[in-house]
Amino acid sequence: MKSNVLGYPRIGEKRELKKANEAYWEGKISQEDLVAEANKIRIHNWKLQQEAGVELISSNDFSYYDQMLDFSFTVNAIPERFASVSKLSALERYFAMARGYQKDGIDVTAMEMTKWFDTNYHYIVPEFTKNQQFKLAHNKPLEEYQLAKANGVETKPVLIGILTYLLLGKEKEAGFSRLDLAERLLPVYIEIIESLVKAGAKTIQIDEPYLVLDLPERAASIYRTTYEAIAAKFPNTEFILTTYFGGLGDNLNLTLSLPLQVLHIDLVRAPQQLDLVLELLPPHKKLSLGLVDGRNVWKNDLEASVALIDKAEAKIGMDRIYVGTSCSLLHSPCNLELENNEKVLTLEIKQWLAFAKQKVKEVQLLTVLAFDNPNAEEAASYEENKRAAAARRTSTLIHDKAVKERVKNIAEGDDQRKSPFSKRKLAQHAALGLPLFPTTTIGSFPQTTEVRSWRARFKKGDLTQAEYDELLEQEIEESIRFQESTDIDVLVHGEFERNDMVEYFGELLKGYTFTKFGWVQSYGSRCVKPPIIFGDISRRAAMTVRWSKYAQSLTNRPVKGMLTGPVTILQWSFVRDDQPRSETCLQIALAIRDEVVDLERAGIKVIQIDEPAIREGLPLRKAEWAAYFDWAIKAFRIAASGVEDKTQIHTHMCYSEFNDMIEAIAAMDADVITIECSRSQMELLDVFGEFKYPNEIGPGVYDIHSPRVPSEEEMTALMEKAIKVIPKEQLWVNPDCGLKTRHWEETKAALHAMVATAKKLRAKYGK
Ligand code: GLN
Ligand code: ZN
Repeated sequence: MKSNVLGYPRIGEKRELKKANEAYWEGKISQEDLVAEANKIRIHNWKLQQEAGVELISSNDFSYYDQMLDFSFTVNAIPERFASVSKLSALERYFAMARGYQKDGIDVTAMEMTKWFDTNYHYIVPEFTKNQQFKLAHNKPLEEYQLAKANGVETKPVLIGILTYLLLGKEKEAGFSRLDLAERLLPVYIEIIESLVKAGAKTIQIDEPYLVLDLPERAASIYRTTYEAIAAKFPNTEFILTTYFGGLGDNLNLTLSLPLQVLHIDLVRAPQQLDLVLELLPPHKKLSLGLVDGRNVWKNDLEASVALIDKAEAKIGMDRIYVGTSCSLLHSPCNLELENNEKVLTLEIKQWLAFAKQKVKEVQLLTVLAFDNPNAEEAASYEENKRAAAARRTSTLIHDKAVKERVKNIAEGDDQRKSPFSKRKLAQHAALGLPLFPTTTIGSFPQTTEVRSWRARFKKGDLTQAEYDELLEQEIEESIRFQESTDIDVLVHGEFERNDMVEYFGELLKGYTFTKFGWVQSYGSRCVKPPIIFGDISRRAAMTVRWSKYAQSLTNRPVKGMLTGPVTILQWSFVRDDQPRSETCLQIALAIRDEVVDLERAGIKVIQIDEPAIREGLPLRKAEWAAYFDWAIKAFRIAASGVEDKTQIHTHMCYSEFNDMIEAIAAMDADVITIECSRSQMELLDVFGEFKYPNEIGPGVYDIHSPRVPSEEEMTALMEKAIKVIPKEQLWVNPDCGLKTRHWEETKAALHAMVATAKKLRAKYGK
């Protein structure tokens, strides 16, 4: 039995890579400095795994920016527009693809970036053309293998599988399918493997996570021909066909038929697949059990894992089993040992957690425990693990009877407003008296350096609560005056008190904890530090009422209360693994519901519940979408339904594909939805028109991701397009998203133009 770690975080324990990358981009350090820092991280990671006794340690899991981009670079899948930077060094060209390049008269845009399966990691999308050629341009897999070897560590190189690589890419022109490129890519792929084998690699990990998705037509047969060719060429190399993030489902037979010796399956995401896989595994194949969760922060339940290993052993025997992480540890924070501030993370909760470094040890420990021969230290670790698991199961910190009861007692009608929208609409229009094409914004106003410095000073103790609050009140007052003078109809307070739309609520809710160094890579040098939901969630006290009420006291216009929705709060946190996510989501929903009711009671007539992450929570397989919608939509509705008809509930989403989930969006039954639209030139609205979206809708007319100020004419043109597909009585005028990353200057100019646009439309279309 071998221990198998699928990949290790590369950002460095204290985000060294982020810092080095950014320093290099700013010209503050040289290329040599950056490479030296990168090597330090790589070697540190390998040694750490070697010392823990891991047998299958990954190489080529490092990346300066992204592993998919690395592979594009390796096989020379470089879009033509980057010919303009061909004179630059390899590293410069690589970063140009990741980030674009605008210097010395060269202006080339970055490659597109999108979410890696259902994680919060973003990869650089490969771009393919009909005449796409590949060649081995830059053998990074070999270089990394050799670097490890030179440092005394034998590794298992990781390669992205050909099919997953192609399928996650994009055709940049018509007339071909990217699947057709497999044949052309194969010889280059074989060349890479050949070089690795020559250099001494015995085992190679081939990542084919696409096998857990619904496969497009023809993919199955191309999977077969591709891997038959590879296996035939290297009969003495051990390939681990690696799948993760889900079960193989209807691709299981295909997967088992591919002639690679070892199959890795994710038993954290899809434990139910073990029985069938054991049943069908051909006699000559080995199985790598993905038992240690690469995507969450909880200690492994070693006892439960050992039981699964035993089960596998009984069926296929110990020498056909590997034990590993469920997926790469890329998605875990680095090292729990750094968390030594008990004010941030208490010892009681810390003992339930394991980050990447600790997970590596768990993998190794599992191989020992499976053989029933732990040494004294290992036996002690096992006991410790069991103790922690038992403590967690019964901890009063986690379990709040009242919260559990309340979820259990959610009644039939709790996810329904009192009346249908047609009736609510009349009550709201009477209460708010808004004009045709009402204007509003999405919530946040610029988070200036000044505003952020107040928060930093307050956290450090340099500002008292009273001083901090007063500064915030001044900022709110200024923003209200600005909105009034701009003649916006539904105002916002500006969200100046919030660091982040999830963390802010996390800090106020019971059941959440935080870390100091729990960073994970989101994309390139960007890292996030998701808060951790460890226990039953409830509200200690009102969270936002103070600010909304204050803002409302300053004006006769309606001020919109701003909340983050339950699904988004769930999605952007590390979530407890001891109960279904749906259960945790309902708990959050009830807490938000209470806040909504309190806002209404405080005189707030319009309340927005943001759900920008509702789409990214979608299961990987279409067949599971309905079950997800069932609880996710319900959670939103529970949060939104505690109020009177006359209170107007808004929601906001900022992603670009509504087509396949428009019915679910309608089922949320928000009175008004604001969405990102301007960059797609309102194309997104077609589906709202076709479907006859019943409630009100504000298609964004101002792209807030750009410092550009759109003109009145542009915004008018966008609205005219919207009017063509959606009845004018249903339309609002607003930006794409919150304005917190913008400067005041451009914000003011853009919002002036936006209001002018609405006024012109009223003059033209009003009776
Ligand atoms: N209300 C939030 C804001 O304006 C919404 C942010 C988001 O959609 N991501 O900042
Ligand atoms: Zn948004």
